[in-house]
Amino acid sequence: MIPPIARRFVAGEGAATALEHARRLDERSVGAILNLLGEHYDQRPPADADTETYCRLVADIAGTDLGACISVKPSQIGLDVSETVFRENLDRLVDRAATEGVFVWLDMEDHTTTDATLDAFEAQTRAHDGGVGVCVQANLRRTADDVERLATLPGKVRLVKGAYDEPADVAYTDKARVDEAYRSLLERMFQTFDGGIAVGSHDPEMIDLATDLHAEHGTDFEIQMLMGVREDAQYDLAGSYEVRQYVPYGSKWLSYFYRRLAERKGNLLFALRAIVN
Ligand code: FAD
Repeated sequence: MIPPIARRFVAGEGAATALEHARRLDERSVGAILNLLGEHYDQRPPADADTETYCRLVADIAGTDLGACISVKPSQIGLDVSETVFRENLDRLVDRAATEGVFVWLDMEDHTTTDATLDAFEAQTRAHDGGVGVCVQANLRRTADDVERLATLPGKVRLVKGAYDEPADVAYTDKARVDEAYRSLLERMFQTFDGGIAVGSHDPEMIDLATDLHAEHGTDFEIQMLMGVREDAQYDLAGSYEVRQYVPYGSKWLSYFYRRLAERKGNLLFALRAIVN
């Protein structure tokens, strides 16, 4: 059972509760990106098992009118075992999702996985002429080059600031520098992409920049935020723009919940208040 304080950030343990949450979002015009929690499997069986669970989720989504999509971590479906296992599981999942008409996002993990993730994305998005999206991280020095490569491909690209502690030779470690990189990458994406831009940020400054760039270039974009973070802003923005909420669920919720608490004092205070009240 997930305790009520964690329910702010995690939809539940099973697909049914995640879909109930997606239904409530849909009533407020916010789409859902469902994420089964799990990562860094170094053996094949759990990677295969989560791929199978995602295949069942995709069928469940297709049985609704919610238009929900999914977001998957490469190390959850086999990248830590081998690139071959990752590719095989991703093939299986994207084929099934394409049959069911469900969009698949690939999350981006630390910089050692970027090449394998982008290569797998490119193969899938070419094979399915879109239907797949990938995340790129503004803190990585390489991302400007990656964005040029991605501009030539179908599919969608989510720009985030980057959640992993990376070494200074591959990443900007100063927050102001990461923000500057985010702004400049977003500008470049609005100039060069036909559409399919996802702004994965809670930062009002980046959201404002995206809406200004949309007004200037007319390029289609969507805003993506996490469950439990700035939800009022999500509902407000959904009145004017496409907004999707990233909705984690599953039995491995504890470490995700701790991460949300650790990243921001406000979240920690929220949890303490919930315990005291
Ligand atoms: P920050 O730079 O953390 O904060 C900027 C401003 O945003 C704050 O000053 C405040 O005004 C506002 N803000 C931020 N958080 C809060 C809050 N909790 N409450 C109120 N206001 C707040 N990272 C990866 O490395 N790989 C991924 O695949 C990935 N996928 C993601 C998918 C989605 C949908 C989202 C939203 C994030 C994802 N991330 C991913 C995480 C991302 O890299 C950042 O670590 C995270 O989003 C924090 O950066 P930020 O842009 O939201 O704002």
